[in-house]
Amino acid sequence: MVTTMTACKGCGGSMMAIDKNGKPVCTTCAGLSPDSSIPIEVEMPDTWKCSQCGKETTTEALLRRWVVIPFANATRGTYYDGCRGWD
Ligand SMILES: [Zn+2]
Ligand SMILES: [Zn+2]
Repeated sequence: MVTTMTACKGCGGSMMAIDKNGKPVCTTCAGLSPDSSIPIEVEMPDTWKCSQCGKETTTEALLRRWVVIPFANATRGTYYDGCRGWD
C-alpha cells in the first residue's frame, strides 16, 4: 500500500497552518522559497525518524496515533514525536 500525503513544494514539509481563506500554508519556508505553500502529493516513507531524538517508527504506527503526522517531512522521512514538549 502506498500512502501519500500533501506536502509543501518549497521544503517538503507538511503544512501546519491554514490561512484565512482555508488554504493550507507552510510556516517553515514562507518567504524563503518561491515554491512555499504550493501543495504536492508525496509518497510517505516506510519508516520515519524523529528529528530530535532519532527514534524510528513506521507510517502505520504514526497514523494510528495521529491524523496528521506532526512536523512530517516525507522527503527526508523525519517527523517530531513530541519528545521535547510541544512549546
Ligand atoms: Zn515549506
Ligand atoms: Zn523524539
